[in-house]
Amino acid sequence: MAYVHQPQLSRRGFCLCCLGSATFAASGAWLTPSEVFAQARNVVDNMRAAAANAPIKVHTLRGSVSMLEGSGGNIGVLTGPDGKVLVDAGITASRSRILESLADLSRDPIRHVINTHWHFDHADGNEWLHKEGAAIIAHENTRRHLAMATRVEEWNFNFPPAPAGAIPTEVFSTNKTLKVNGGTLELKYYGPSHTDGDISVTFTDADVLHTGDTYWNGFYPFIDYSTGGSLDGTIRATEANLAAATDRTIVIPGHGPVSNKAQLRDYRDMLVAVREKVAGLKKQGRSLDEIVTANPTADFDAKWGRFAVSPMLFTKLVYVGV
Ligand SMILES: [Zn+2]
Repeated sequence: MAYVHQPQLSRRGFCLCCLGSATFAASGAWLTPSEVFAQARNVVDNMRAAAANAPIKVHTLRGSVSMLEGSGGNIGVLTGPDGKVLVDAGITASRSRILESLADLSRDPIRHVINTHWHFDHADGNEWLHKEGAAIIAHENTRRHLAMATRVEEWNFNFPPAPAGAIPTEVFSTNKTLKVNGGTLELKYYGPSHTDGDISVTFTDADVLHTGDTYWNGFYPFIDYSTGGSLDGTIRATEANLAAATDRTIVIPGHGPVSNKAQLRDYRDMLVAVREKVAGLKKQGRSLDEIVTANPTADFDAKWGRFAVSPMLFTKLVYVGV
């Protein structure tokens, strides 16, 4: 089917018909604008539906730290006699499979959940985990977004206020130390980056760093300008992740496989290179459509452009941020 792309720019400069562009990249088929729009409109429901059937893969990392993959964002897990600590809560539809995976790791009850940020694919499971007995810890901006109706422009989705049980019970503004299971977890605010509430969590004893969605391993990242995200802040967060990691550090990215410092460096280099390219074109006065047509991400698409954020959407996210 012939389809000529006709951008429909929203007032914030996004092309509304491409928000779900991952859908046609993944299927390999061109969709009509209304089909693309219909899929974009349901991006959140689509992810929830996918989680309902996805298996949960358990990666044991080091010491008592593991990673669960398959329910939205990657979930970090620390086991021990004080109870499990989860970093991110996944999507509620995976509850039974998450419980099975956690039970396979140990019989400890779930005592803490730390949200790296407020997005549904990281905090949707807060309510049932709270019912299991977990205290929920997050940055104060994460609690703010969860507690009120919040729209994500780029997903064209309105989230209602989260139920009372899903609201973080302990919040902080810059950093927080959690002593648990005979070890130490360091929670650190990045400043505005992927959203305005992102934190890193370091399992100091095992030397494992959970970066939340400031780092997508192998994929162009999403930047949520609707809730205070920032391109330059994402680059700063990546520099902070690099500074916090050594060659021995195991890195849990928000999305993608278990990672390390060398791969974090590749990600930083990609972000900086695309930023430079798009900023240069924008400075020349090129329009967003002209810049998308110039394909400034061409050198990186084969490696980074195969997931939820397509080369086109990523170019737009960078354009808005420079
Ligand atoms: Zn996110």
